[in-house]
This record gives sequence, structure tokens and C-alpha cells, in this order.
Amino acid sequence: MPKIYFIDVTNRDGVQTARLGLSKLEKTMINIYLNEMGVFQSEFGFPTTRHEINYLRANLELVEIGVIKPLRLEGWIRAIPADVEITFRNVPNINYLNLSISTSNQMINGKFQGRKTHDDIIKDMTEAVTAARTYGAESIGANAEDASRTDLNYLIEFGLAAKEHGADRLRYCDTLGYDNPFTIYDNVRTLAEKVGIPIELHCHNDLGMAVANSIAGAMGAIDGGQDAYINTTINGIGERAGNADLIAVILAAMKSKDITERYELAGPIDLSKAWKISKFVSYAFGVPIPINQPGVGANAFAHESGIHADGVLKDPENYELYNYEELGRGDPEFVETGREISTGEYSGISGFSHIMSQLEVPVKFPDREKANEILELVRYANVESQKPLVEDELLFIAKYPGIAKKLLTLTPMV
Ligand SMILES: [Zn+2]
Repeated sequence: MPKIYFIDVTNRDGVQTARLGLSKLEKTMINIYLNEMGVFQSEFGFPTTRHEINYLRANLELVEIGVIKPLRLEGWIRAIPADVEITFRNVPNINYLNLSISTSNQMINGKFQGRKTHDDIIKDMTEAVTAARTYGAESIGANAEDASRTDLNYLIEFGLAAKEHGADRLRYCDTLGYDNPFTIYDNVRTLAEKVGIPIELHCHNDLGMAVANSIAGAMGAIDGGQDAYINTTINGIGERAGNADLIAVILAAMKSKDITERYELAGPIDLSKAWKISKFVSYAFGVPIPINQPGVGANAFAHESGIHADGVLKDPENYELYNYEELGRGDPEFVETGREISTGEYSGISGFSHIMSQLEVPVKFPDREKANEILELVRYANVESQKPLVEDELLFIAKYPGIAKKLLTLTPMV
């Protein structure tokens, strides 16, 4: 029986979003949290973008030393051989890639404006797949951008060519959020049956259906005999109206009517990390979690009206579909209301040592030299993030100063 996998694309689609961005340390923390949750893969960045190189290499080092394991770190590039070449020059030990190219008439005419034909698109993509294989990529996804507005027969042709050249998966991108659950189910089921490789669902939320479409698409892939890989972002952050929210997709895949009887997740997901990852990403992007966000919104387990409050007190199942503890909620949160010392790019050793000694897991440095070394890295991390670091970030820097140093090294002059 084919299964459902999750590929989170916060570190690629999320950071592409207008007005929003993440520091390299924040991106790293997201990879670590996704790994803890049991997510299959993180689309961790752009190997052809120079300021990403040190971050990508440093994260692959975290894979090597077992800090990020078994999460797969996959890079996203355009499906052209030149990008594959640059990728392996910049990040030689990258193992997983997704190669993206537009497939709809709208994009071929409107974006390439006569520079590429339908045959050119397939030629670029297959050459890129072959190049990635030659360089040693372990797994390759061929992405059809704007798949939902692409002629289905051409999409099948694109998928078959990708498969023939060694692609492991076909990414069906509902780039503009144009599909609905019924159309995506039909399209993806046909693709799964006719192309015969696993399908990725990449859904946007322009019509408010990203989560529903992701689930329906996954059902289509599985009913068509193939594994389904749902693309998500944390808190649904992504281009325009965003992507399918990670927590909502997981909840839907685990809790929706009849779904667990008919479909299976590829591996266990630790939902109890949901609260932490959602709060961290909200802080990192500087975007509040909507009050009515599934699972993690402030009102997700709040009851006020008489009938509801009475009902939930008698038996939570009267008005709650799942339990807040499952999502890692319920602990009171400590908010400082008096004197507060925080980290910053101009922090000094005394304030910094105080902060480190007050952590839940206090850090004591063997000598002043070591403390100064870590403080220096914390200052650089603050230059990038422009806000106080969270406890996990401080602990990460204290534990892996060498890797933190790489993450924080940006060298545009070289
Ligand atoms: Zn996207």
C-alpha cells in the first residue's frame, strides 16, 4: 500500500515570500525541528544562490554528525543543466534535488515568450535530471511548475520523460492555487496511473484550499497506486496567500473522517513538537499565528459560549476533535515582566554569561576565553536575525560553535 510522506518547503518557498525572510541560523533550527518531528524531507534552500552556500554546507555537516537524521535535506533549483553544474560546484555533497520548470501554456507563452517550446521544456528537464544523476544525486524530483494549468496529456509526457531519465518523483505544482479537491484528485490519480512514479503535491492557498487540495491530491496518488509526498510550510507561510500549512496537513492526514482507515503515513510524526515549531517560525518571521489557526491558534481550544463550555467540560470530545496535549500545548508560558537581559549584536560578556546561566539547561563556560568565543558568534547571529536569540539557538551555538561559525559566514567580496 503506497504511503503519505511530508516534505516541508518553508526554507525555500517560505523565505521566497514578499516582506519575509529568515536568518541562516533560523533556517537551521527549522531543519532541526522538522527532523525531531519526523518529517521526511526539508527543502532546505537554493544551492545556486551564493549567500546560501555556507548555510547549506554547514547543514550537511549536521547530517554527517547525526544531528539532523533521518531528515533528508534537499535543494531546489531550475531544471536546466547549468544550474545542476553550479549546484555541485557550490555544494558538492548534496544528495537530494528538486528540479523545477514551467509546463503550462500560460507560462511557456507568457514567461518564456517564444524562447522555449514544449519540446525544449522536456529537453531542459531531462538533461538536468541526467546531469544530476551523473553528479551523484541520490534522489531527484522533477517539478512541473503550474501543473494545474497544464494540459494533462503534456504533463503525462513530461512525467514519463522524467521517469525515463531517472527522476524518482514528479512534483505536481498547483502554483496559483487554481485546483479544487476534486480536480486535483482526478489529475493526480491519472498521473500516478499513467506515469507510474510517486507524486509530490505542491499546493498554494489563493482560493483557501491548499490543505484540502494537498490531502485530495495525496488520495489521488495513492488510489492511483503511488506514494504521495505532500509539500508544506510551517504556519502556511509562502508566496502570496501561502502554502499548505504543515500542522493542518498533518492533522487532516491523521484525524479527518475515514482517512486513517484508508491511507497510511510513511512514518510516525511527533505531533507534540507542533506548538514549538509553530511558535518558533512565528517569532522568526515576525508573523503572528492567526487566532483561529488549526491546532496552534490561540482559540483552537478556547470555549466561551454556554452550550460549548458546558459540553466541553462534561466531555472534551463533545466540542474538540483532538486534544491540545497532542500538539505539545498546555504548559504555562513564562513571560518576563520585570528586568530582562537579552542578547544582541552589541552584547557584552557579563550580560551574556547571565543569560546563559539562566537557561532551562544552564550553560557554564570553562573559562572567559570560551565564553567570549561563543558571545562573538551570538553577536553575529544577532546581526543577521535582528532580534534576541531563543534558548535553542543559544544552545546550538554553544554546542556547535564551529558549525555556527560557518552558518554565519557571508563573504560577498570574495
Ligand atoms: Zn510554491
